[in-house]
Amino acid sequence: MGVEELFHLSSNQSIYEHEVAIGKALDTIPLAELYEQAESALSSGKEGGFEDHLVMALLKWFKQWFKWVNSPECDRCGGETNPRGAEPPRPEEAKYGARAVEIYHCEKCRTLTRFPRYNDPVRLLETRCGRCGEWANAFTLLLKALDLDVRYVWNAEDHVWNEVYSPFHERWIHVDSCEEAYDRPLIYADGWGKKMSYVIGFSVTGARDVTRRYVRRPDASLPRNRFNEAELEQVLQGITIDLRQRMTAEMREIYSERDEVEEAEMMSYQEEQVVEVPRQSGAPDWVAQRGEDGRS
Ligand SMILES: [Zn+2]
Repeated sequence: MGVEELFHLSSNQSIYEHEVAIGKALDTIPLAELYEQAESALSSGKEGGFEDHLVMALLKWFKQWFKWVNSPECDRCGGETNPRGAEPPRPEEAKYGARAVEIYHCEKCRTLTRFPRYNDPVRLLETRCGRCGEWANAFTLLLKALDLDVRYVWNAEDHVWNEVYSPFHERWIHVDSCEEAYDRPLIYADGWGKKMSYVIGFSVTGARDVTRRYVRRPDASLPRNRFNEAELEQVLQGITIDLRQRMTAEMREIYSERDEVEEAEMMSYQEEQVVEVPRQSGAPDWVAQRGEDGRS
């Protein structure tokens, strides 16, 4: 992972802007139902604005609609499977952005099942399954389809999630679709006991190091030795300036004001710890193996 990967993650955000992808997402989301839930939460006086309630409704729906995969079911008999390594993708899998295909063996009927790790979010709306990568990828598209300002958040310790900009709260809000979590940025450090080095948010309007939102205590942090700090800052700033070049001066002003507010927000985090719950998604042993069971 070098700075090239940062540029790649940034440029990848434009895939969620494609009209066909947005259209497919809008066909998938039960819009009327979610709008109704958001309206009713709003009128019942629950905290937040319409967009906040809409994202919470989307999270709730998505959590039961999209499936978590540890080992996939056997293609042939539906039985349990065990991992048997990985293979390069076939053309029909590579077509949907699969860079690797995990292979699973069924003990019962002794056949192999392929689990292509698709990167095409539209394809994921059809397969409706995966691990955090697939969840965050598909969820980014759905949030985009609702016309929200969305970040795809990359963590160096193998997790990804989202952030949405809340017009009501006037700040970026943590959103993790695997955990149905809204505005619980300390879920990783305090709930999972996860230690992190870098957390970077990418959107079509910029790239930002948001580690301080998620790592607020020294004992929840890992050494930051992947990038030179000055170079990282320069790269993220460069990406942001570049992305905002096509904006009107007025829009650019709005986004720089948001940046300033966000900087003040992140500066304000002192050492704090809230009570969080352990990770909900994934099999217990897999979660423990990743050091995310809140016990480390
Ligand atoms: Zn089988």
